[in-house]
Amino acid sequence: MIIVLKPGVSKEQAVPVFRVLAAHGLSSHDIVGESVRMIGMVGDAKAVSEDQILSFPFVERIIRVQEPYKLAGRKFHPADTVVDVGGARIGGGAFGVVAGPCSVESEDQILSIARDVKAAGAAFLRGGAFKPRTSPYSFQGMGLDGLDLLKIARQKTGLPIVTEIMSQEYLAAFAEDVDVIQIGARNMQNFTLLREVGALGKPVLLKRGIAASIEELLMAAEYVMSGGTRDVMLCERGIRTFETATRNTLDLSAIPVLKEKSHLPVVIDPSHATGYWHLVEPMALAATAAGADGLIIEVHNHPEAALCDGAQSVTPQVFNKIMNKVRKVREAIA
Ligand code: PEP
Ligand code: MN
Repeated sequence: MIIVLKPGVSKEQAVPVFRVLAAHGLSSHDIVGESVRMIGMVGDAKAVSEDQILSFPFVERIIRVQEPYKLAGRKFHPADTVVDVGGARIGGGAFGVVAGPCSVESEDQILSIARDVKAAGAAFLRGGAFKPRTSPYSFQGMGLDGLDLLKIARQKTGLPIVTEIMSQEYLAAFAEDVDVIQIGARNMQNFTLLREVGALGKPVLLKRGIAASIEELLMAAEYVMSGGTRDVMLCERGIRTFETATRNTLDLSAIPVLKEKSHLPVVIDPSHATGYWHLVEPMALAATAAGADGLIIEVHNHPEAALCDGAQSVTPQVFNKIMNKVRKVREAIA
């Protein structure tokens, strides 16, 4: 961290800043330029409050040299993280697809979809039991009964299950029953939830908030990881822009940017990103070509009767076609 002082500030006037840094055990260097004086700081500045430094009237600004995310960042962990759930892997060259309905609706529904997505090559089954709906009058998910149905589907197909947690109330149930815990876009900055889910030590699929920057997503991953787990997947699911032709705007450039800044696998959700089933295939292919480590796709056996997100759900037949094309893109870029 470099602290730039206002023009004409003497070393004596800057003493309070040197004191703050020394109190954190950091060594500091007085850098005197032609017109400005700066304080260079060496050491782990994590605990230093930027607000406190900026509150001194003689401080002009702070230049951060290192990213604030140490656990999620590539700098201290150059090798790709591979999330491995009983042999289903995502990251470090392993490409994994998570597929299933937006919501678990019945045993028949989840079993039929689980079998179809497995046959098409999905490595994980998704399905919401607790749904973050915009309207309190919309279907809210089956809750714990939905978790039970996911467990049956896992037992019958062998697919590990990915499902969203919305409240700390169900931490114990998720710890017991869920293979990958999803944290949804709306909870990406629910910091207490992030830390407590991280403390379970289970793999986490962390979705980017609807208006979150890449740095905010990485700081959310840092929260989860500081809780304890090392297995976090970063999920780009579209961000909110002025565009209304699609539900959200898929930020494809987030893939190479995240992969440069972080060692964590990057998973793309073309379903929530676009909101329309016919846009899922082109965006799934584009994300694959851009270097994503995996995809999460909503599949429903009767989209027209889906209790949630039918318009963006592909049928198992369409999903199968997408998987075949994704394989071809993978081969083409290998
Ligand atoms: C979901 O995956 O069903 C979901 C609600 O996603 P998001 O949090 O990205 O909106
Ligand atoms: Mn959905």
